[in-house]
Amino acid sequence: MNKKTLNDVQVINKTVLVRVDFNVPLVNGIITDDNRIQAALPTLNYLINNGAKIVLLSHLSRIKEEADKAKKSLAPVAKRLQEVLNREVKFVPHTRGLELETAIKALKPGEVLLMENTRFEDVVNGELVKNESKNNDALGKYWASLGEIFVNDAFGTAHRAHASNVGIASNIKENCVGFLVQKELEMLSQGIDNPEHPFVAIIGGAKVSDKIGVIDNLLKKADKILIGGGMAYTFFAAMGHNIGKSLLEEDKIDLAKEYLEKANGKIILPIDSATAESFADVKAIFTDGIDLPDNLMGLDIGSKSIKLFEDELKDAKTVAWNGPMGVFEFENFKTGTVAICEAIAKLKDSFTLIGGGDSAAAAIQLGFKDKFTHISTGGGASLEYMEGKTLPGIEIIQTK
Ligand code: AMP
Repeated sequence: MNKKTLNDVQVINKTVLVRVDFNVPLVNGIITDDNRIQAALPTLNYLINNGAKIVLLSHLSRIKEEADKAKKSLAPVAKRLQEVLNREVKFVPHTRGLELETAIKALKPGEVLLMENTRFEDVVNGELVKNESKNNDALGKYWASLGEIFVNDAFGTAHRAHASNVGIASNIKENCVGFLVQKELEMLSQGIDNPEHPFVAIIGGAKVSDKIGVIDNLLKKADKILIGGGMAYTFFAAMGHNIGKSLLEEDKIDLAKEYLEKANGKIILPIDSATAESFADVKAIFTDGIDLPDNLMGLDIGSKSIKLFEDELKDAKTVAWNGPMGVFEFENFKTGTVAICEAIAKLKDSFTLIGGGDSAAAAIQLGFKDKFTHISTGGGASLEYMEGKTLPGIEIIQTK
């Protein structure tokens, strides 16, 4: 990797601004999953042990109006971080101003400060100005002026140009990526840009329109693309099959045709379905073949498709997966997604990668958290990486 990492900068006695991803789920002020806080620990412990004065910035959810601020403070996150770090975390309930500046100046090496939710800057005096989310120049400059080095360790927002990542990075003398982002980039680069062959990609999820970029890019790189989920039915419609009440994007039928022609046999579609009469978690009706009667909708891949996909996967040296094979949230329609998880988990000497978002959530929820080489922490960011796009939050980081 050619981007500067923590090992390329001297942090001792320096005020280091760190963009972390503490966008944790909060229910009535209680953190229901602290994975994102845990994920920042390698970088934070390194900075503590190497005598940096640490200033943390993170967003939490979206702020659209003044009233959102009461429910979306990072105060509970500071408390939890203090517990997991087992040391004091100073929380400043502001994103700018004298109190913040004074607290930062008072930091001693190894001390940690968290400022308030960066997206509070999106609403000023009751007006939705999006200073953080639209990378307001003055805001990026101001935050950059509070420190000497910037570390981007928030992979989840790397595909966005915000003031707290791109804004700070472009206005500070020295910047680098943190350990979490470094690992994400190394893994994604190995899985997508330098895959060992055979390289099998699995693409699922609801819609073709959400995955156009991924299909485009992976058609160039993968040896096979297995397509499941709701999006498969637009492909079936393109082939002239009856898809009953299944999910269909009519305006993507021509594109699906184009992909099938261009793919030259690389695209492998399911050959049967698990269906229901409505979008509900009811007992599955299994159908043989692709054509569905008018009253049924396909909600998962069927057992023959599972077997077909397992066969395609068994010799793969690299697997990249984005999007579930069916409505995995329903007990009766998670079978295909579970089977694919199992088939990938069985590959002992292969590089296996899951893009973030729903497929990562499915793999974790179904108990496969440690069974893959890498599960990305960033849904949108890993999707854009798989599309072959550059990520602005990474692009702006200095090279070695
Ligand atoms: P995505 O975020 O595009 O990866 O889509 C994930 C969503 O697609 C999940 O919430 C699934 O429930 C949904 N999904 C998967 N297969 C189907 C299907 N056959 N019909 C409708 N929705 C589906």
